[in-house]
Amino acid sequence: MAGEGRRRYLGAVDLGGSKILSVVADHEGRMVGEDRRPTDAEEGPEAGLERLGASIEAALANAGLRRDDLRAVGVCSPGPIDPARGVIPRAPNLPGWHDVPVCQYLAGRLGVPTILENDATAAAYGEFVYGAGRGFRHIVYITVSTGIGGGLVLDGRLYRGASGAAGEIGHITIDVDGPLCGCGKPGHVEALASGRAIAREAQAVLARGGSPRLARLAEEEGEVSAETVYRAALEDDAEARRIIQRAGYYLGIGLAAYVDLFNPEIIIIGGGLRHMGELYLGPAREEMARRAMDEPLKAVRLVEAELGDYTGAMGIVALLREGAATA
Ligand SMILES: [Zn+2]
Repeated sequence: MAGEGRRRYLGAVDLGGSKILSVVADHEGRMVGEDRRPTDAEEGPEAGLERLGASIEAALANAGLRRDDLRAVGVCSPGPIDPARGVIPRAPNLPGWHDVPVCQYLAGRLGVPTILENDATAAAYGEFVYGAGRGFRHIVYITVSTGIGGGLVLDGRLYRGASGAAGEIGHITIDVDGPLCGCGKPGHVEALASGRAIAREAQAVLARGGSPRLARLAEEEGEVSAETVYRAALEDDAEARRIIQRAGYYLGIGLAAYVDLFNPEIIIIGGGLRHMGELYLGPAREEMARRAMDEPLKAVRLVEAELGDYTGAMGIVALLREGAATA
């Protein structure tokens, strides 16, 4: 029989709307195995849980390990979570997932303690311990992709707030009568600065017959995504460049609020839209500088995340290493 001494490895899963990424790390936080597979969220929560478990087991096998080598497992997932019960109450991009008992399922399947964390919160901690935030104590992490999420490390500690919802920069109001956000409320940063906002703006441009280049790319791809707009911008399409710069401008307004509220040393930008580089982040930086107070502005730098796809999973690894999971 395997003794407790065998149980030295940590499993971390980033459950996304489109893909699952599992990582196995040793007790020093070094990654030794991984697995990627589609979430196929439309198949429902039961199939999804089964896939989560299978993904961790595949990451273990990838590292040449077995189930009883695991000491603890953690999952991060977008949207609200209930960490005390280990339940995902609802998930905006996982249709049909209501009150899904993630921790209970994985604890039963794998026989180890488990934790559940919001993905942007986990990512903030991952960058703090292993990424761009190393050596800093006051960190704002923001992920910009289809939506916008965020997490806070304040005075060297992860700050979750009363309901685990702290740091949600995406849902600060910046335009009182602005378009509706993914959360259903008007004028939030996410509604004006996210990938979804960029795509919506591009559709409006196409609807009024603007930008033939964007129209051609949209027809080739069969849809207009933020990525389509970025491709048109790389081809020097003025309208596409304007749409992305405008989204960056709105992000900067949100960032200025963060600078004034938290006086961070660094703001780390993760998520897919950071690949748009200065076209997007330049206007964000400018607008942040134009609106934030002088003193906190002098203290802050805007940097890109360093851990790529692994930010969330590595945050879970860091939390597990600190003993976040108890049976
Ligand atoms: Zn919102």
